[in-house]
Amino acid sequence: MADLAGKVVVITAAAQGIGKASALAFAKTGATVHATDINETLLAELAKTPGIKTRKLDVLNDEAVNTAFAEIGRVDVLFNCAGFVHSGSILEMKDGDLDFAFNLNVRAMIRTIRAVLPGMLERGDGSIVNMSSVAGAGKGVPNRFAYGVTKAAVIGLTKAIAADYVGKGIRCNAICPGTVESPSLQDRMHAQGDYEAARAAFIARQPMGRLGTPEEIADLAVYLAGATYTSGQAYNIDGGWSI
Ligand code: NAD
Repeated sequence: MADLAGKVVVITAAAQGIGKASALAFAKTGATVHATDINETLLAELAKTPGIKTRKLDVLNDEAVNTAFAEIGRVDVLFNCAGFVHSGSILEMKDGDLDFAFNLNVRAMIRTIRAVLPGMLERGDGSIVNMSSVAGAGKGVPNRFAYGVTKAAVIGLTKAIAADYVGKGIRCNAICPGTVESPSLQDRMHAQGDYEAARAAFIARQPMGRLGTPEEIADLAVYLAGATYTSGQAYNIDGGWSI
């Protein structure tokens, strides 16, 4: 595995959950981490960690993305972690939800990749890690239409980038987690009314009998960033959900 010390890593949606755990994990490797998010209050906590620089960045905004990457300069590793979970079947979903899900879960990755790829190609080296999900990419999950459609699209996007640039030093892989303990998962559990019943149902769908931790997913992000002989792959990390 490549040594990440001295590498420049940019992470989107890094203020909490998997993105935050990844910022901390990458910082431990000796990389310089740019932790970006829209939540400046939460980012401020991360800024105290050596090796982590924080920056407000809304990945829905083309101009903001281009400005941020121009200012950051060289990027060796891009971890596209931003994403949002909508509930509902195809008949329940609002069209606006699908548009928003495509914009955040898919288009935002296209924005950031377009911003970093020319520099990576110039140096003939770069690793891109995209956040997908077992939901949609690996299996159909009830009540997750917009989420499943867009997370499946992330796999297509990942493989297309990998295929176009595999001979030019660029690697692009995707992470497909199962159910992971994070602030937004907490929100989804509370939103169902009976928190304990919702939590038990989420745990029940994980054959390992527990939720994943953000740190477990962060370890895979670090591994893929430095995995020099793999590209175009989607890695399930899901407590056995997809077995
Ligand atoms: P989370 O949902 O708790 O946090 C999301 C973060 O994204 C927040 O800090 C928020 O401020 C930030 N954000 C929202 N809109 C943004 C924007 N426009 N620009 C920049 N940042 C923005 O974190 P999580 O649950 O760890 O999820 C992270 C990623 O992992 C998502 O893509 C999610 O779909 C994926 N994922 C999560 C799970 C899970 O069970 N938690 C499972 C599979 C995949």
